[in-house]
Amino acid sequence: MLTDNPLLLFTQLFAVVSLAILTIQLLAMRKSRKRADNLLKELEIGKREYKLLQYRATSNKVMMEISGSFVGCDKSDLDSALKNALKKAGTFFQAHRSSIFMIDEASESFSCMMQWCEKGISEQGEELQDVALQDFSWETEQIKQQKSVAITNVKSIEEVSPALFHLAKESGTKSILDVPMVNRNKVLGWIRIEDINRLRKWSTDEANNLNLIAEIFAAELAHLSAEHAVSDSQRNIQNMIAYAPVAMFVINPKGKIQYAEGRALARAGFIGSHLTNKTVEQAFPESFSFIEATQKALKGEDSHVQINIGKRHFEAHVNVVLGPSKKIRSIVITAIDKSDRLNFEKRLAKEKLYHPISGLPNRKLIREKLCNQLQKHQEDEKDKLFLLTFHIDRSAPLTSALGQITIDELIRQFSARLASSFGAQGALAQLSEFNFCLVAEGLETKNEARQTARLIREIAAQPFFINDQQVNISVSVGIAQAHGNLDSEEQWLSEAQTACVAANKNGGNTEHFFQPSLANAALSSWQLSEQLKQALAEDLIEAWLQPIVQMETGQPIGFESLARWANKDGDFIPPSEFVPIAEEYGLMGQLGDLMLRKSCKALSQCHRINPKWKKLYVSINVASTQLERSSFLDSLSQLAKNYSLTPEHIQIEITEREAVNPNQEIVPLLNKARDMGYRIALDDFGTGYNSLSYLNSLPATSLKIDRSFVTGMNKSQTGEKVIASILSLAQTIKIDTITEGIETEEQKENVLKMGCSYAQGFLFAKPMPPKEMPNFLANIA
Ligand code: C2E
Ligand code: CA
Ligand code: CA
Repeated sequence: MLTDNPLLLFTQLFAVVSLAILTIQLLAMRKSRKRADNLLKELEIGKREYKLLQYRATSNKVMMEISGSFVGCDKSDLDSALKNALKKAGTFFQAHRSSIFMIDEASESFSCMMQWCEKGISEQGEELQDVALQDFSWETEQIKQQKSVAITNVKSIEEVSPALFHLAKESGTKSILDVPMVNRNKVLGWIRIEDINRLRKWSTDEANNLNLIAEIFAAELAHLSAEHAVSDSQRNIQNMIAYAPVAMFVINPKGKIQYAEGRALARAGFIGSHLTNKTVEQAFPESFSFIEATQKALKGEDSHVQINIGKRHFEAHVNVVLGPSKKIRSIVITAIDKSDRLNFEKRLAKEKLYHPISGLPNRKLIREKLCNQLQKHQEDEKDKLFLLTFHIDRSAPLTSALGQITIDELIRQFSARLASSFGAQGALAQLSEFNFCLVAEGLETKNEARQTARLIREIAAQPFFINDQQVNISVSVGIAQAHGNLDSEEQWLSEAQTACVAANKNGGNTEHFFQPSLANAALSSWQLSEQLKQALAEDLIEAWLQPIVQMETGQPIGFESLARWANKDGDFIPPSEFVPIAEEYGLMGQLGDLMLRKSCKALSQCHRINPKWKKLYVSINVASTQLERSSFLDSLSQLAKNYSLTPEHIQIEITEREAVNPNQEIVPLLNKARDMGYRIALDDFGTGYNSLSYLNSLPATSLKIDRSFVTGMNKSQTGEKVIASILSLAQTIKIDTITEGIETEEQKENVLKMGCSYAQGFLFAKPMPPKEMPNFLANIA
């Protein structure tokens, strides 16, 4: 058996030849001449074979070296790898010049991509750019048919291919060997070797060898360009999906679409592959501006135009790509779908004044109305004017029991009932998720106001049916009559709210009129805020950590940091109570700063436990009011630096609701944070009203799927469906998902099956003080 290794091959052959000579000498000694003669003959044959084998071994070696030039090479060093390989091929054939020619099917031309010349021989490659295939049809036709072209004397082609003859004559070329570069049956171009000033008869072996080299070149060129096309387009498509809905077109110089892709194209109702080889007129007969822009481009003119594709509106950049000889190579059109943006802006404008779920006026809009009413009333106090606010009872347990999707549907149905009884506009409003209000005009007495409250309670008491599930609710109603001592509409609202809280405290499903004595109850939240202020001043609030784990392995990838406040008796006041107080009393900045500092400190301590934990990150809950402070990102960066953390170690966790809040400009701030390298998680994902459609405009790196869906998974299929659709969306746009609130093995198995890899929940670990971390991490396998 012969081997591919040239060194081994020589050794083997050497051994064979030596053995033969030794045998001959032995036989000669025995005077067996005849046998010796025969053997000498065989040896002659052996020598020829040896020569051939030696040639093959060298060519094998050269092939290996040529193909080795491409190992581990990427786009950036493709040029030098090709040059190196081309030189090797040229010297191996002892030729004077070797070149790679590439065919550009779109423009039906070819160009010399690269050339190597022996010392003293002039280069010719630069002149051979964008040459029409037709001009050299004799040889290019053969190449297209995947045939080699061997010319011993160029004189012989003077008639069949005058162009090649003259080209050769100019540079003194006498002999040419062209072999096609073919990959997957597609001819990419050819390799040419030339001899100058000497005639050469190309042997079959040489042709075969050049074919082999052409095969290697073709594979590498196709492989590398495909690889880059894939990775570039993957990156582009990812960006497209995440940030800009676009459609892309490449049109050839004949006006035919060569390539059409993009999410926006699909959204406009077109399939890219169905458009190829059509002209723009054929593909989009109604898009006049598109047709016109393409026609201009075919005459060499770039443009920036508004076009319609299907029902969608695009802003298109039309760019003409020229070859070195200034001929049009292709036209590239990038069209950005503006319809989303326009709709988004329209929606934002609307949502600034209306509640997104119910479509009822929101707090902002109703305040204007209340203000007007109050002014009118203060001018003429004769008319009685009542404000009723009402709150759905037991909203927190209701949410955990039903899940957010059902709650949203409940709110929609309830609002629709209210609107049909009291009118959709004007008097009715949704103040927050479970809180509504009604300005009741034209009532004569308190009793009539009470009757209105009862009507509201009756509307709520009728059972709701959501996904075949019966849901019963009750409401508590607070009633505040307008009076001359009201400073503002806000005070009026606040009095009605206070009465509502009192009704709720009386057991719910009742109504209560505001009385000044009730205002004392409001004092308790003020007292809590004072205590919080004190606790902040004394640095008593701690950052506890809850691991975020990879479910399959149980390995932590990071922690969420959660605020913990124990009062003087050691009882914990839940963050759901004090975080809203901090918001209300303007303490969020202070609380946020404290949490940032303690979270970074705790993480840096974890990093120091063992270098293997250095990749752990901390996920910090950030309220939009914190993010809006101009110094936020600067102080975070400074803090990270102080604790030797990089931005990848820090995840900004912002609730999806706050991120898309139309009243705040949060998205640009998140973009900035993302650009700086911080991770961004959308918290309580799925509970926001428009999560899926907004996601594309948010720079999130992960989504935290809200606990209510996991709870809802056991009770109904809705939770499961929501999780599945969030997961598939996240996979499409390639962002991580973390499922929150996993408490049981069953829940874990379920979400794992659905394709979520990361989770947080009591099953893995409860939030713990940082000092327990070393112990926790030590127990991880
Ligand atoms: P969140 O951001 O959704 O935090 C997750 C909450 O779920 C935490 O409640 C955590 O203890 C709890 N949790 C985690 N796993 C499970 C589980 O398996 N089962 C159950 N039943 N609960 C689980 P926590 O610590 O009471 O925090 C409540 C909320 O308070 C947080 O919800 C967050 O919105 C807010 N919060 C906490 N700390 C901060 C903070 O430093 N800043 C801000 N802005 N908000 C904070
Ligand atoms: Ca959170
Ligand atoms: Ca959450």
